[in-house]
Amino acid sequence: MTSLPGPPPQGRRERAECGANIVATDPLISRLCVIGAGLIGGSVARAAKATGAAASVVVTDRSADVRKRVREIGSSFADKVTETSAEAVKDADLVVVAVPVGACAAVARDIASNLKPGAILSDVGSVKASVARDMAPFVPEGVHFIPAHPVAGTENSGPDAGFAELFVNRWCILTPVQGTAPAATETLQAFWEKIGANVAVMTPEHHDLVLAITSHLPHLIAYTIVGTANELGDVTESEVLKFSAGGFRDFTRIAASDPTMWRDVFLHNKDAVLEMLGTFNEDLSKLTRAIRRGDGEALFEHFTRTRAIRRGIVTLGQDSAAPDFGRAHGPLPIAPIARPYASDDD
Ligand code: NAP
Repeated sequence: MTSLPGPPPQGRRERAECGANIVATDPLISRLCVIGAGLIGGSVARAAKATGAAASVVVTDRSADVRKRVREIGSSFADKVTETSAEAVKDADLVVVAVPVGACAAVARDIASNLKPGAILSDVGSVKASVARDMAPFVPEGVHFIPAHPVAGTENSGPDAGFAELFVNRWCILTPVQGTAPAATETLQAFWEKIGANVAVMTPEHHDLVLAITSHLPHLIAYTIVGTANELGDVTESEVLKFSAGGFRDFTRIAASDPTMWRDVFLHNKDAVLEMLGTFNEDLSKLTRAIRRGDGEALFEHFTRTRAIRRGIVTLGQDSAAPDFGRAHGPLPIAPIARPYASDDD
């Protein structure tokens, strides 16, 4: 593998404030290429532009409509939009593949012969072991392949869904394969840090196990519960909508996530998800038994533990401490409320 210079010193020549904790500095990457201009790719491109992490950003997408939209959005998104991935990667120092996990290998095959020697090839897929395995055979000698996963997102997709601040104070996990030049990993780490993320390094297998419980299983549960509520049909249909201000509403947000992306996540992280699902089913059976037996002590003990976990997440700054996630609650009605039984002097 070609040796890379390490990241440049972090002396910040600040140019402009571009949003919460986003500060433009000298470029770290001369040319960034982003393949897939959806929520994550669009956020990487916008953040690189807003912070100046890359001197120029080239974007491509397989969809002509998406490419047209990126051109319309203009230079806050990309300096150049190309028709094909193969064309986009020419002369790029960092290539970020931001397409569904199942499409990563085909993209790697399409771009392989145009990658610049010494370039870093990375991705943002939510599963790491299968992506690392499927892309690696296409990576030419002299190109540094470092799979990555920013643990940040929303339930929206497409070119208008992304925003420059998406990664601020979120984690990005790098999973370099054996033999990766440390300087290349340092450069990629510096890039993610420059666009606001905290970086952790681990093996792809460990990533997949951790994410199976923290992200993939919660999505599976949300998809299940929203589907189950829907199948209750006519009896509760109106109630499901009417009373969705309870916990159900938060499940519906997660269950609105992109079907293609999540289909690929479950197909590609099958073993880790099945392992976590086995443990989850055992725990669910324990709670079911406690309810059946009227074992309030077991329920109380369990709920006390989970409440402490939630508070720990807030303390770590990974979520808002505001009640109901800080959602706005409408104003009180200002007109006096009619009180049919009130007398004049009470
Ligand atoms: P997205 O908003 O749907 O964007 C993906 C884009 O890639 C779409 O415009 C899609 O085009 C395009 N695309 C698909 N196949 C392609 C190909 N072969 N060549 C070029 N472009 C292609 O999805 P996303 O949420 O950004 O997800 C992208 C990746 O990020 C996935 O691997 C996902 O696992 C990972 N990720 C997602 C989140 C999240 O919360 N959403 C968080 C972290 C990581 P079409 O619309 O024509 O299919």
